[in-house]
Amino acid sequence: MIQTNSVITLKKGKNIEYIQFNSLLELGIKHAYTLKNENLNFSHKNLELEKNSYKVICEELSLDYRMITKSKQNHTNNVKVIEKPYSTEELIDIDGLITNKKGIILSSTNADCILYLIYDKSKKIIANVHSGWRGTYKRIIENAISEMKNKFNSNPKDIIICICPSIRKCHFEVSEDVKDMFESKFNFIEEKFIEKGAIKDGKQKYNIDTIKLNNKLLADLGIPVDNIIDSGLCSVCNHDKINSYRIDGKQFKLGTALITLE
Ligand SMILES: [Zn+2]
Repeated sequence: MIQTNSVITLKKGKNIEYIQFNSLLELGIKHAYTLKNENLNFSHKNLELEKNSYKVICEELSLDYRMITKSKQNHTNNVKVIEKPYSTEELIDIDGLITNKKGIILSSTNADCILYLIYDKSKKIIANVHSGWRGTYKRIIENAISEMKNKFNSNPKDIIICICPSIRKCHFEVSEDVKDMFESKFNFIEEKFIEKGAIKDGKQKYNIDTIKLNNKLLADLGIPVDNIIDSGLCSVCNHDKINSYRIDGKQFKLGTALITLE
């Protein structure tokens, strides 16, 4: 069940339910992560429905939906600093957006992948990062924080990282080849982030904790552990409320995470 707690607030709007992070609310940052709704889908495959979906959430937050900037995500580790609103077609193969410009609404979408809403409270910079397992493997979160450091001189101690609902270790099950990929690439990590899982069709499965893995990368970049704010919500465990590709299959819809500076 999803409910308001010390980390998140559940908001019930006119036509939409969404969650917000209390720490961003306290800092006056407008943002949202949308919950499942049969009339909403933030997929770029149906442009009319996509536009209407953004209109609904933007109206709810008193934002101008024409300021939405959403890249064509492709599980890359590419991040881009945004100086003006772009169309999706202008931002191909980009999975992380950063801006210090007021009014631009950074959007990302998911159905199981991790989405990070990021805020540098000192330099007033926001970022929105899509990190599915492929993006995690390619360490996109490092690229995003490094870009904030290099372009804006961000101090990691000022950066708040909010982790939206995504698939979690409890349901992120992979086969041996993916387990081996992660194990060899991240063998410097001492903490255990891979566990032996079930045996299916005679094959050993493994569960990977991609949140924990990214948290370690963030810690190595100097982000204090208290600055990492995790909704703690698994999209599969909460699939009645959260879009999940693993559960919904071909019928899956995309939710969005939005963040803007005013
Ligand atoms: Zn789960």
